Parts: sequence; C-alpha cells; structure tokens
Amino acid sequence: MKKVPISLQIDDPAPIISVYHEHATVSTTTDGRPIIPTFPNSFLDNFCDVIEKHGIKGKFSIVPMPGNKGDIVNGLEGVPREELDYWMDTVKKRVAPLFTIGPEMLTHHKPIDLATGKPILEMNEEEWSFLQDRTTLTPYIGKALSLLKEAGFNPIGVTSPWKFGIKVEDEYHHAISQAVYDVTGSKNAWFMTRGLYDMPNARPWVELDEDGRTLVSIPPSLQDRFWRTMNTTRTDDEYVNSIADMIISEDGKSGEMIYILETNGFPIIVTHWQSLNSNGLETGLRVLDVIASRVNKHLSDRVEWMSFEEIMNLVLANKEAFPKPENTGK
Ligand SMILES: [Zn+2]
Repeated sequence: MKKVPISLQIDDPAPIISVYHEHATVSTTTDGRPIIPTFPNSFLDNFCDVIEKHGIKGKFSIVPMPGNKGDIVNGLEGVPREELDYWMDTVKKRVAPLFTIGPEMLTHHKPIDLATGKPILEMNEEEWSFLQDRTTLTPYIGKALSLLKEAGFNPIGVTSPWKFGIKVEDEYHHAISQAVYDVTGSKNAWFMTRGLYDMPNARPWVELDEDGRTLVSIPPSLQDRFWRTMNTTRTDDEYVNSIADMIISEDGKSGEMIYILETNGFPIIVTHWQSLNSNGLETGLRVLDVIASRVNKHLSDRVEWMSFEEIMNLVLANKEAFPKPENTGK
C-alpha cells in the first residue's frame, strides 16, 4: 500500500524577532506574563535537533521583513548581524533539507507601500490584501519571494499571514502563480490559506491549472494544539503528553491524526514558531518531539514525512485525483 504524506506546517518564523510579539493585540500571555519579543538562536538549534532526530518534514515560513523592522537581507533592527547570519545559515543547512521554505508575505504586520518602502499604518497586511487585485498583489508577493531568493532560497510558494487574500481569492491565486513564475521561473507553485480541520477527505487540491501554470493548495488538517503552551508555566511530562494525546495517543490508536487517516485525509499539522517556543519555555517543541516519536513508532507503515514541495509534486503527478473540493474549509 502506498504511504500517505504527513507534514508539519510552521508559520511565523523569522530571525530572532517574534512577529507574534509585534502584531499581537495583547501584551501578556493569558496567565499574565509579558509576551517575549525575541527568540534566541539556541531555540532554532533545539528545533533542528528535533526535526533531524525524527526526520520531520514540512513547510517553514520566513517572514522577510518581520514586524516592519528591516529585512533579512539588509539587516534587522535590534538584531546583531552575526545573529541574523547564524539564523539564516542554520535554516539553510539544517531546516531547508527537510522543510520547504517560503515567505509569509512581507511583514506579518503593517503592509509596505512598495513605491516608498514605508509602512501603511492604518491597517495590517490581511486588511490591506482585501482591498487589492492581481495588479497590486503580484508585485507585493514578488517582493517577498525576491527577498528570500536574495537570501539564497528558491521559494516557489507562499503562506498567507492570517487569512491574507481570502476575500479576493481569485485575484490572489493568479497573483501567487504569476509572482512565483516572475521571480523563480517555476511554472508550478504551492500556497496555504485555508485549513480543512475536523473534515473527512482533507487533502490538497489543484487550485489553478491554466496557461501552462499550476497552483496547488496545501491545507492543514490538524489545528495548532501547541499554541496553548504559551499560556502556562506547566512543563511537566503529564502536561506535555496530554497535548500530544489530542493529536495521537501513546498507543497510536486514537487522536485527531487517526481520524484524518481513517477518513482518507493527509495529516498536515499546523503550528507556529511562537507555539513551539512557548514564551521561552519551549514546551511546544517537547510536544512535537513526543508526537513525532509516536508517529514514527506506530504509523511508519502508513505515513511518510514529506515537505510541501514534495506534496505539491505528488499532487501534480496525478492532478485528476486532487480536484478542488466543494467545501474548501476555513
Ligand atoms: Zn502567521
């Protein structure tokens, strides 16, 4: 039997800067601790140890102008150059072999006026996107892809910060396909906006197939259960296991992931850089370690870790098997 792809989608990473701290509408965790503004490079090192140990694959965003604090090529406010370089080099050496790298638009905060380079302060990138069409979205996405390319990556897909583009989806889809082609020359692209949570047949689909170009939607099917680790100082094994249990039980027989597999879906777990960091405690990273151990122990005959680019290629190799579903989730 052919194995089912399993994948981990990580939203919001950027060098040192926490984009969550920059855009969050609250300043403290729900248990009253200040939300930390930065993540040290040791966190990235620890993350790399976990993904390499288990062979975890997926998608890893790099927000190229995180929180309107400069950019990953020319430097970031408050981030020493050597720390920025270490982060970028580590992602290239240790993350990129396993994870597809792509931007999560430019800032994950205030949109940038491309003509002046200045932020548009009245709204965030998501709100801005809803007022656009392909003529303005294409260069905006192109700028995000170009910064990653300049930094040494080959980005052929994008993640939507929040629900960027969801109110102008047709314009957005054409803009992604065009921008990826313009910047990288790739006729195939992937993107992520919608999630198919708690739904049967949660599988990627071909969103666009025209003019010799294709765009594949890769929806997560398992929600971010790691997020709550930001809001507690609990780090004990019982707590860590209780969160892993939601996704996959210790015996590998139950949990949301098993439901997805039993209903013909691809288990694609979404999480966030801040969820794995857990406001400095890295509890979420320990949950990931437990989940991956359970997956590899109990499901290795049924599933295979794949990056988003590998999933895109698998879909494109058999396009008819991945039509756009009637219910495209939320
Ligand atoms: Zn995000």
